[in-house]
Amino acid sequence: MLKLNIRKLSGAACLLLMPALIFSGCSLSGGNTETKKTFFAMDTVMTLTVYGRKSGTADAKMANSEIAAEKAAARILEIEAALSVTSDTSELSRLNASENETAEASDDVLIPLGAALGIAGETGGALDVTVLPLVRAWGFLSKEYRVPSREELDTLLQNVGYSRLRISGREIVRPPGTELDFGAVAKGYAAQEAAELLRGEGVAGAVISLGGNVQTVGQKPGGEKWRIAVADPLDPDHGTIGTLSVGEAAVVTSGGYQRFFERGTVRYHHILDPKKGMPAENELLSVTVVCDNGTKADGLSTALFVMGFPAAMEHYKLQSDLEYGGFEAVFVTKDRRVIVTDGLKQSFAAANNKYDYE
Ligand code: AMP
Ligand code: MG
Repeated sequence: MLKLNIRKLSGAACLLLMPALIFSGCSLSGGNTETKKTFFAMDTVMTLTVYGRKSGTADAKMANSEIAAEKAAARILEIEAALSVTSDTSELSRLNASENETAEASDDVLIPLGAALGIAGETGGALDVTVLPLVRAWGFLSKEYRVPSREELDTLLQNVGYSRLRISGREIVRPPGTELDFGAVAKGYAAQEAAELLRGEGVAGAVISLGGNVQTVGQKPGGEKWRIAVADPLDPDHGTIGTLSVGEAAVVTSGGYQRFFERGTVRYHHILDPKKGMPAENELLSVTVVCDNGTKADGLSTALFVMGFPAAMEHYKLQSDLEYGGFEAVFVTKDRRVIVTDGLKQSFAAANNKYDYE
């Protein structure tokens, strides 16, 4: 069974993993192979598990799982190189630093940006990719954490607001000083792109697990559903709240427990309310979104976490009435309730007696 939320590694562990990609392969019955590839990217541990066939076996159309996994990892690293805001040379950093109002952008910027702006519009700006100045001020980029003053946040907020952005053809139009951060959608977009690549390679099945973002492709050997554990936000390293059984899907969790620092008795986490400039504080401990697109699942889980409960549930009900809006969710609240939306109730197995399940 897969653990959905792999917490971000400590600095020392990152160093151990970075020089080498961890790679393993084994044979399954019928000539099918399983390749597992673990590497560090986008500030998290990523694991690709790919089921394919050895080259030269009966079904020539089926992929060699090792080659397919290599290509998927390379694609994820390419997206990281475009979207990282901690590297000065990424496409996004160059765009942020530009004094020009308009900049031509690649698909790797335009596609996640388009998805994020759509979700921003639907959620009243709960998701807002212009939060970078705030993310920087709290120290979430440098990991030199600090609590900015109200005055500093108010000044920074003058440059925050997704409605300042426009996409015109391949150009992004923005007032200089508006800086973009794709932290809320980049892993989901990378998982989506890796899934599409693996499908194109003809793999039998795959699980793409990018630190809290899981996406499945095809079928598990044996044909049963993929089982994905949802982390217990009160004990994320060891506990789960239950297991989701899914076919092809993106399953993404956002929660304050995934990245935070403490000052005295106060915990400050990385998901910010774009209106206040402060970490979003409400009834929620975590939100897991299940849908057919990784970018959308990632953006929505962040947005619903900012909206809080029950506003996020109201948004679910509104969207589930729309043909194109379909997603499902699992909400975990501070008063220890786990609320599973209707379309997931049959697929969710509860596993933690700390919580009341609804
Ligand atoms: P996630 O882990 O997907 O929920 O996204 C959180 C990351 O997205 C943070 O580490 C920030 O880089 C960025 N972020 C924080 N708050 C927001 C927000 N309200 N809208 C968009 N991005 C955000
Ligand atoms: Mg997200």
